[in-house]
Amino acid sequence: MEILIKNGYLIDPESGKEGKFDILISKGVIEKISKNITRKTKKTIDAKGKIVSPGFIDIHSHLREPGREDEETIYTGSLSAVSGGFTTICCMPNTTPPLDNKVAIRYIVDRGKDAFCEVLPIGTITQKREGEVLSPYGEMVEEGAVGFSDDGNCVMNSLVMRRALEYTKLHGKVVISHSEDKNLAKNGVMNEGSLSTKLGLRGIPSEAEEIMIERDIRLAILTGGLLHLAHITTEGGVESLRKVKKKHKNITGEVTVHHITLTEDAVKGYNTNAKVSPPLRTQKDVDALIEGLKDGTIDCIVTDHAPHTEEEKEAGFENAPFGMIGFETALPLILKLQDKGMKLKDILYKITVGPAKILKIERGEVKEGKRADIVIFDPDYEWIYKKEEIKSKSKNSPFIGWKLKGKVFYTIYSGKIVYQK
Ligand SMILES: [Zn+2]
Ligand SMILES: [Zn+2]
Repeated sequence: MEILIKNGYLIDPESGKEGKFDILISKGVIEKISKNITRKTKKTIDAKGKIVSPGFIDIHSHLREPGREDEETIYTGSLSAVSGGFTTICCMPNTTPPLDNKVAIRYIVDRGKDAFCEVLPIGTITQKREGEVLSPYGEMVEEGAVGFSDDGNCVMNSLVMRRALEYTKLHGKVVISHSEDKNLAKNGVMNEGSLSTKLGLRGIPSEAEEIMIERDIRLAILTGGLLHLAHITTEGGVESLRKVKKKHKNITGEVTVHHITLTEDAVKGYNTNAKVSPPLRTQKDVDALIEGLKDGTIDCIVTDHAPHTEEEKEAGFENAPFGMIGFETALPLILKLQDKGMKLKDILYKITVGPAKILKIERGEVKEGKRADIVIFDPDYEWIYKKEEIKSKSKNSPFIGWKLKGKVFYTIYSGKIVYQK
């Protein structure tokens, strides 16, 4: 099938190409990008007044399959993703059972064939995510693992982490670190500070994250392995990365949409939908994260989409699980970075080619000859995020009821329209 996108404003952050262009898609591939294409096609999209961008890439999400299909499946998760403009998503391996062997990786790849977008599996760093015995990286890479993470758990044993960085390096794959000292964070449920004291909730100090980020950075320098720091949330964490970034190209970092949008104030009223790991921090931290995005210290933005059922989230603040969903609200929330002085092109970079480079996958560009993964959105369209319209199987979002600006109108994956507003 052929699709012609007319009159849209193209932004391709990798090449820097920007302006009014028509795009012809044929057989799943971008055939032509030109000022005025007049070709009769079965499907023409009038993108006047809209932005045409590479499909978004999220290298950090939780799709809950296998094991918790009551929270999300690869199918429903990918539906939620494409409605938010994502064409490639990576799923974390903290499933039941965890993705710690080649059969589990193959299972995700197979299930991903029915998904609305590309689903790439991340394997565990250690078997059962227990932090002791390394997973069999080679055979997992052969089956399609694009990176390794014990996300949700920190690899506390520094020797194990060292070995993980050494062995994954042999396969050219990245270790994605959930850097959080488990002992220091012990039983905490929110950021440690005056607010946690006031609310009577156990706090997680910034140092729990910063100490482990420092350790992981040093191990990456020692081994030369590829280290990607997941969900950095503190001013000190950004500072640690900034110091080594120029010299050590093997170290990268991400922030989540919610950590740059919300502060710990969101947990006031014991709002369990704002309970996330690592926790929401202070305004000072948020400002530092945004500064890190601007100066290139932080490479990409992720959702850390983490679905949970209502019953689980109603268990009280202490007992409710960590995490919030994020695919469908990501675009309008990151567009707010424009108010902080970021250019649209630079924001889009962090959610397209930025993440692609970390995993070394050939994605995130709108270019002739490339697979047609494209999102068309209106950056000025205002809408209310309503619970009944959420595509994800779970509804745990603190953004329900928010007035948002910026909406996806079309998502095209591999030359097919997979979402239309
Ligand atoms: Zn994590
Ligand atoms: Zn996560």
